Amino acid sequence: MTSPQRKPLLAGNWKMNKLNGELAGFFDAFAAELGKGPQKTEVLFAVPFTLLAKARELAGGRGIEVAAQNVHFEANGAFTGEVSLAMLKDVGITATLIGHSERRQYFAETDESVAKKAKAALAQGVKPIVCIGETLAEREGDQTEAVVARQIDAVLAGLGNPASLGNLVIAYEPVWAIGTGRSATSAQAQDVHRFIRGRVAKGSSRAAADSLRILYGGSANPANIAELLAQPDIDGGLVGGASLKPADFAAMVRAGDR
Ligand code: PEP
Repeated sequence: MTSPQRKPLLAGNWKMNKLNGELAGFFDAFAAELGKGPQKTEVLFAVPFTLLAKARELAGGRGIEVAAQNVHFEANGAFTGEVSLAMLKDVGITATLIGHSERRQYFAETDESVAKKAKAALAQGVKPIVCIGETLAEREGDQTEAVVARQIDAVLAGLGNPASLGNLVIAYEPVWAIGTGRSATSAQAQDVHRFIRGRVAKGSSRAAADSLRILYGGSANPANIAELLAQPDIDGGLVGGASLKPADFAAMVRAGDR
């Protein structure tokens, strides 16, 4: 994280965890762990749909952003079980994950649907956090750059390769590192982050690439986050397991502040 134009962002991904009754206790404990004082790191929690309204009510006043974990690209209609951008905005939500590898793996999310969702979110003023990353077989087959290039190119092409990317955020999450306890090394992550930034510069503009925040995700925790965040192209983290624990996530936010 070298560029002063990129504010660090620590995003928690709660996946399919927690109930409304747990939220007050969580945010109280998180605030207590974080303590007072200046904080330069932005904090966001991506929570299940059922928690969005209450989480926003409890976290909003504390300067914490609340995001959805998925959204549909159509405005409305016969899409049973889906939620639109207008519905997210209706409960005050200003950001959403898009294309998390679990959605690509278990729910048939494709590069095409991810691109449509990113485009729709940007058009609606909702911050898209687009997740990309290679599987273990792809890494071992030396396909990492080809895979992330394909995933990014799809998003940029869907946007019409504009010179500016608004508030788009990319999360690089090697699939083999998610929920496995096996993080990428900071050098491995930095290599891919640098590649992603270069690819964005090609498909958009150098200025857009330089201001784009690229988060690392995959078994990030209080012990490894500082080294990851010290890399020049790593601008924050997307954190699953450790974001469920107030003390761990607060420690990671403080690491981003250093
Ligand atoms: C995630 O859910 O995006 C993630 C990175 O999970 P974990 O931190 O548990 O590996």
